[in-house]
Amino acid sequence: MVETQLVCSQDGEQKLAQMQSENAPRVVIVGAGFGGLRAARALARHPVQITLIDRKNHHTFQPLLYQVATAGLSPVEIAAPIRWIVRGSRNIEVLLGEVQGFDLDRRVVRLADLSVRYDYLIVAAGASHAYFGHDDWEALAPGLKTIEDALEIRRRVLLAFELAERQAASGEGRVPLNFLIVGGGPTGVELAGTLAEISRRVLANEFRSIDLKRTRIILLEGGPRILPSYSEDLSRSAEEQLRQLGVEVRTSAMVTNVEPAAVQMGGTRLPAAVILWAAGVAASPLGKKLGTPVDRAGRVLVNPDLSIAGHPEVFVIGDLAALKDESGKMLPGVAPVAMQQGAATADNIVRDLGGEPRRSFHYRDKGSLATIGRAAAVAQFGAFHISGYLAWLAWLFVHIFFLIGFRNRMIVLIQWAWSYLTYERGARLITGDSSLPSWTELSRESDGSAQAASPPHDPVLKS
Ligand SMILES: Cc1cc2nc3c(=O)[nH]c(=O)nc-3n(C[C@H](O)[C@H](O)[C@H](O)COP(=O)(O)OP(=O)(O)OC[C@H]3O[C@@H](n4cnc5c(N)ncnc54)[C@H](O)[C@@H]3O)c2cc1C
Repeated sequence: MVETQLVCSQDGEQKLAQMQSENAPRVVIVGAGFGGLRAARALARHPVQITLIDRKNHHTFQPLLYQVATAGLSPVEIAAPIRWIVRGSRNIEVLLGEVQGFDLDRRVVRLADLSVRYDYLIVAAGASHAYFGHDDWEALAPGLKTIEDALEIRRRVLLAFELAERQAASGEGRVPLNFLIVGGGPTGVELAGTLAEISRRVLANEFRSIDLKRTRIILLEGGPRILPSYSEDLSRSAEEQLRQLGVEVRTSAMVTNVEPAAVQMGGTRLPAAVILWAAGVAASPLGKKLGTPVDRAGRVLVNPDLSIAGHPEVFVIGDLAALKDESGKMLPGVAPVAMQQGAATADNIVRDLGGEPRRSFHYRDKGSLATIGRAAAVAQFGAFHISGYLAWLAWLFVHIFFLIGFRNRMIVLIQWAWSYLTYERGARLITGDSSLPSWTELSRESDGSAQAASPPHDPVLKS
């Protein structure tokens, strides 16, 4: 096993800089998501050595993942190489690798073939989707967390339309083209609204045999209302905006089982060509490896300064941290919380080094926005609530503003302006495997019922 040091330099000036930097405290940050990256950038201005470790070579702007999943944007427009993002900061080294655990007594982070020592550790490894103990549902109903997830969802969605067209062209159009989205939080709402737009508007002129108006987009929410973290009036407005787009919204619809081409809700079975999972979040398993108490979602219970019990040099931030605000409400798993915690942790490390007392973390809630579709969104800024076009404009500008890289901002702005005017979605490539097991299953089911009703015949392309 190797323990890393900063890279050696050749001439005298570089050697001096190296000696100074080798004496500087080393801050290791696990995860270059919203929290980790913000901490690294804030610390880069101070005399510390920073090692930023991530299992991906890129930072992903997760709020726009649904755009990749629905073919509106390409992966490169919402992600950027971590190394490129921090290229201007000489005191940040980037390591690609999966962190496997920690030795808090020796102050070491463990990767498969490498140990990295630290003076301060910031764990910002985020969260993923949870299947409530049914991990086997993941293959049947993928969730949306990474670029790979988005591309898999895009593949399934586009393939379902193609298979439906092929079947309808052969005169066998019996399989229901249903898309089921489980979970009525912001991601479920975004996916449902955009899928409805795709089937009603984007693809309307391109398919000849299927009637896209008969496509069903069904959003299932286990609770009594969608967008439960928003006020009731905004939940109602979001539901109305979804219905206008053609989405069937079913609340108090608790999914009890996911099958290869259907979901069960108690005694009700809903067949679907594509099932998407947007319900439930589980913290990164790295949280438990810190050996400190975690909550039911696996989030680490942190002190008010975001450090963990017994280890003031170890901080946990972002989706992986469990902390309540001053009113006793758990802080939400959103990007602004992660970014503010990254900045606050950097500030506390700098305070430690300067001999100043630490500050407790205070979240400044600047509001929440959820988009539903073209010119449809809801926004909540304290007591001020807006819906529809204005909320959508606010959503659009906030997301462009926070995207990383000027080039990405410009490209996304142009792409959105273009698709607003033309309804086009340019990233509609089916890549990878061209089979869809749920479709095979649905075809088998509908063949069975058809055969029971009529004698078998060979499918023939209609003239
Ligand atoms: C589809 C989707 C849409 C969202 N939309 C919004 C939105 O509109 N607005 C909003 O505010 N929030 C949104 N969020 C939530 C927001 O993205 C998260 O709250 C935020 O990313 C949390 O930041 P983080 O730094 O804690 O973790 P993340 O940003 O998830 O970063 C974690 C990083 O850790 C790395 N990592 C994980 N495990 C390891 C390991 N073992 N070793 C090395 N590296 C590791 C990951 O590769 C990743 O880069 C959305 C999330 C998703 C999934």
